This record gives sequence, C-alpha cells and structure tokens, in this order.
Amino acid sequence: MSAQLLDGSGLAKRIKAGLKAEIGAFEQTHGDCPALAVVRIGDDEAAAGYGRAIEKNCASVGVEFVARDLPADVDEAEVLMALRGLNREPSVHGIMVLEPVPAAINLDHLVAAIDPAKDVDGVNPTNAGRLLANRPPFFVPATPAGGLRLLQEAGVEFKGKHAVVVGRSDIVGKPMALLLLHNHCTVTIAHSRTVDLPAVCRSADILCVAVGRPEMVQGDWVKPGAVVVDFGTNYTDQGLKGDCHQASVAEVAGMLTPVPGGTGPMTNAMLMANVLQAALLAVTA
Ligand code: NDP
Repeated sequence: MSAQLLDGSGLAKRIKAGLKAEIGAFEQTHGDCPALAVVRIGDDEAAAGYGRAIEKNCASVGVEFVARDLPADVDEAEVLMALRGLNREPSVHGIMVLEPVPAAINLDHLVAAIDPAKDVDGVNPTNAGRLLANRPPFFVPATPAGGLRLLQEAGVEFKGKHAVVVGRSDIVGKPMALLLLHNHCTVTIAHSRTVDLPAVCRSADILCVAVGRPEMVQGDWVKPGAVVVDFGTNYTDQGLKGDCHQASVAEVAGMLTPVPGGTGPMTNAMLMANVLQAALLAVTA
C-alpha cells in the first residue's frame, strides 16, 4: 500500500485565504484588525525564531502582531503585570507567551494569568477544562486543532474507531486525545511508560504521534490502512524529520500527514483562526 498524503500546506493556504477575507471584513466593520500580543522573555534563539515565524504568519492574514519583549532578568511579578495590562487592553485580542521562559519564572503562573478569552494558545486551565468538558466557548491549541481539521477534510470516519495518541503534553497529545474522544473515537493515550508501544500503535485505526523523537514510529508499528498523523517536528542533520519513519509508514498506512507539509502549516493557520475567534468573541461579549 502507498498512503494518501494529507496535504497540510495546501489546506492551510486555503484556510488562510478565507481568514484573510474574514479579517478584512472584521476591520471594515470594527475599525481595527484582530491583534495578537506575543510575550517573549530573554534571548532564547528558539523563542525568537518562533516569534519571527508568528509575526510573518500574522502579516500573511492581516493580524496585527504586538511584540512584548522582556529582559531575561525580569521579575515574575513584572511579567504578570505586563500580562494583566494586555488582558485589559481592548485593542489586543489574543495573548501568548513564547517558550522557553527563564528558569526563575514559573510558566504555569503566566499561563494562568492570561484572560481565558484572549488565550489563543488554549493553555489557560479554564480553556483546558472547557475542552475536557466539551463546553464551548474555548480555544483549542492550534496543533491538535490543525491535525483534526486535516482528518476532517480528508473525510476520515471517527465514530467507533480506535485512536491511539502517543504523547501526553498539554499542548499536543492531551488535547488531540480529547478532540478524538469528542468525535466518538475510543481513545488510548500512550507515553514514555507505555508497555509494548509498537503493539499499542498497531491496534490503532487512527494513530497520532507527538513525541519529539525523530522517526521513532516504524512501518511495522502501523496497522495496514490506518490513518497516521505525524506531529513530530525534529530538526536533525538530515533535515526536518517527523516522529514517524515516513517511507516505511507510508508503505503500510492508508493516510499519512507528511513532514514537512502536514501538521506544521496547519498549526499556523489554526493559530490565526483562534485570533480571529478571540476578536469576534470580544466584539460580541
Ligand atoms: P513534549 O516533550 O511536551 O511531550 C512529548 C511526549 O512524548 C511526552 O508525553 C512523553 O511521555 C512522550 N514520549 C517521549 N518519548 C517517548 C517514547 N520513547 N515513547 C513513548 N512516548 C514518548 O512534546 P510536545 O507535545 O510539545 O511535542 C511533541 C512533538 O510535536 C515534537 O516533535 C514537537 O516538535 C512537535 N510539535 C509540532 C507542532 C506542529 O506544529 N506540528 C507544534 C508543537 C509541537 P512522558 O509524558 O511519559 O514523558
């Protein structure tokens, strides 16, 4: 078998074209455009690079990017004050904090301080709880939201299927598992302590992998015809690699998200969708 590759780049492009039009209409109606404030603390290069990518992503759809760069030695209290200021600022619709933050700062405290109505990353406990209970309104973290959307667009049937999600982070694994559960899959969450992971993966009709281990999942871990979502984004000497060994998995799977060009571009599109959702919530509140 040769898997159908799910084209995240193409779908993200179409979604962003639609968002651009909606954002233009929002600006026409309300006089200002949706704005995303991005808080970066210190000089971490990965955070800076992610910040630049978000800025470009915002520009591509007409979202205003508001940079809040704070020095590495800033007090947690000052960061919390900055976040509360952004919460009160009506021209700011979405707020996110870039990781990593300096060791002296507790990221959980920052995340909890973001107004849930502006928490476009879906990391505040209120949004996480609403997603758990499936009680809108809530923001779904962009990466799992993008993974689900790719599957929906491909016409994947969820009801009664066994979904295995490998990885249990708050930003990818857990919310992906919840989205699949809310779509009536029977869900198994696997992680680093799971016994016989290959066998668990082989039991999946839908296999979602978010571990951060390049090419860990091999073709013989996959049930023939299964749908495989590879969230892995691993920069290696051989280039960008997913968490799945793409060539061997593609031999066995029915559908597969490629790396690059699968879940990565979808994350960008869904983050912008969340910013627009926040702006629309603000004007209807
Ligand atoms: P985390 O490091 O937060 O979580 C990794 C998870 O994988 C943990 O739950 C961990 O288990 C599990 N894990 C690690 N090693 C193994 C193993 N050998 N066997 C089974 N489970 C294992 O990572 P993230 O969730 O943030 O990211 C996961 C991947 O997704 C990364 O490659 C990241 O770059 C990528 N990513 C991609 C995005 C995109 O846009 N496509 C956006 C965000 C992330 P345990 O809990 O037991 O430690």
